[in-house]
Amino acid sequence: MTSSVVRTALLILLAVAFPASAQAPKPPEPSPAIVIHAGHVLANPGEPAVGAHTVVVRDGRIVSVEAGFRPAGTYGSGARLVDLSDKYLLPGLIDLHMHLAIIMDSDAATNASEARLALAAAGYARRLLDAGVTTVRDVGDNSGVTLALRDAIARGDVAGPRIVAAGRIISRTGGHGAKAPVAGDIPYRPAGCDGVESCRRAVRENIERGSDWIKVTVSGSGREAGGRADAAPILFEDEMQAVAAAAQQAGRPVAAHAHSTAAIKLALTQGVRTIEHGTYFDDESARLFREQDAYLVPTAFIARFVRSKLDMFAGGSDGKSGEELRAWADAGIAGPGRAWRAGIPLGLGTDGGPSFEPTATADEIGLYVASGVPAAEAIRAATRNGAAVLGMQDSLGRILPGYLADLIAVDRDPATDVATLHEVGFVMKDGVIHRAPGAADGGTAPTRTDQ
Ligand SMILES: [Zn+2]
Repeated sequence: MTSSVVRTALLILLAVAFPASAQAPKPPEPSPAIVIHAGHVLANPGEPAVGAHTVVVRDGRIVSVEAGFRPAGTYGSGARLVDLSDKYLLPGLIDLHMHLAIIMDSDAATNASEARLALAAAGYARRLLDAGVTTVRDVGDNSGVTLALRDAIARGDVAGPRIVAAGRIISRTGGHGAKAPVAGDIPYRPAGCDGVESCRRAVRENIERGSDWIKVTVSGSGREAGGRADAAPILFEDEMQAVAAAAQQAGRPVAAHAHSTAAIKLALTQGVRTIEHGTYFDDESARLFREQDAYLVPTAFIARFVRSKLDMFAGGSDGKSGEELRAWADAGIAGPGRAWRAGIPLGLGTDGGPSFEPTATADEIGLYVASGVPAAEAIRAATRNGAAVLGMQDSLGRILPGYLADLIAVDRDPATDVATLHEVGFVMKDGVIHRAPGAADGGTAPTRTDQ
C-alpha cells in the first residue's frame, strides 16, 4: 500500500467514525434575544436613572445596554420585544436576611413536617420573586429545607429567588438559634459551639451539608436580656475566633447576629462579613466596620413588627419588659439612618419569611428612607451593596453587559418615590420573565411557565 492510499483509508475511517468533523463545524444557533425598551434605567443604583435605553438579554445574561429604542429585529430572528417604555428598570432586589423555612405562627403540624415546611417555603419563594426579590440570603433554618429549596430553584424545578443559604444556625448550646428542639419540632441537632473544637466541627458539619455562608449568633435576641446594649457576648473570644477561622479556611463568609455593643465588636474583630441587626453599635464599631470592609444589615422591618406586638413578645423567663422592648424596637427602627450617618456600609434585609407579606423588602427600603437614608442609597443597599456582600458584584446588582439578567420595573422613579417598589410590574430572573405588564391579574407572563 502506498502512503497516499493509507492516508485516504484513514480519512475515510475518520469520516465514518466522526462524521461531523469531516465538515466545517456549524456555529451554534444563538437563542432568541429578549429586547427591552426601558423608559428609564437605574443601571448603577446610587446614581441617577438614565433615559430611554434598549436592554438586550440572551441566555440569562444582559448582552447590551444601548441608548434609545432600537427595533427588536436588529437582534436577530425570533427576538421578542418587551415594552417598558413608560417604566423605570432597575436590578432585582437582594434581601440579605431572610428565614424562608421559619414560620412563626404556623400550626404545629407544619413545623413538625419537613414536607409541609418545604412546600410553605417554596410557595413563599414564588411570591417573593413576583414581588421583585430576585436574590435572598437565608440566614438560618434548622431543618435543612432552605438548602434543598436553593437547589430546586437553581435546577428550575420551582420558581423563586436565587438563594444563598447558611443552613443551621451556629451558637453555643442553648444560645439564640441553637436551642434544642421542643416537643413537636422537626428533630434536628443544634450546632453547639462550646469550645474551639466543637465550634470548628459545627462549621465543618454545616459546610459538609451544603452551607454557602456561616451564620453565628454572638448575642441574645432583641427580646432577651442577652441582647441588651451592655450585654456580654454569648460566645467566648476563642469560640468566635474558631467559627471565623473554620469558615475562612473553607472560603465561607460569616454573618454574625449581634445586638450588644460588645458582641458587635467581637464579631467585627474576627473578620465577619456582615453584622445582622447591630442595634447598639458605637463609634468604635463604626470604625471597625470600615476597617474590616464589613456591612451592617439592620433589619428595621422586624423591629417595627415587634414594636407593633409588644404584648406578644415582652416577658418570659429571660425576656425584657414591654418598655425595654419598645426602646430596643425604636433603636432598631432608627438603625439604618444612624448607621448611614456614621458612615457604615449598608446591606439590606428584613428578617422576614413566610409569616410576612413578600413586600417586606420594599417596606425595609421605606424604613431606611424614613430613618434618614437617602432613597438612592437605600436602593443601592438593596441591589449593588447586596451583590457586594455576596461577592457577586461583577454579576449582580447593576444593569451592565455581561451581568445576570435579574431585572424589575416600576411605574415611578424609586429614587424619589420608594413606595413604587411595592408594586413591581415586571420581574425577570436569569433572563426568564416571571411577571410582565398586562399579564392576567399581574401574574406570570406567558413566555415560559417552567420556572
Ligand atoms: Zn434572623
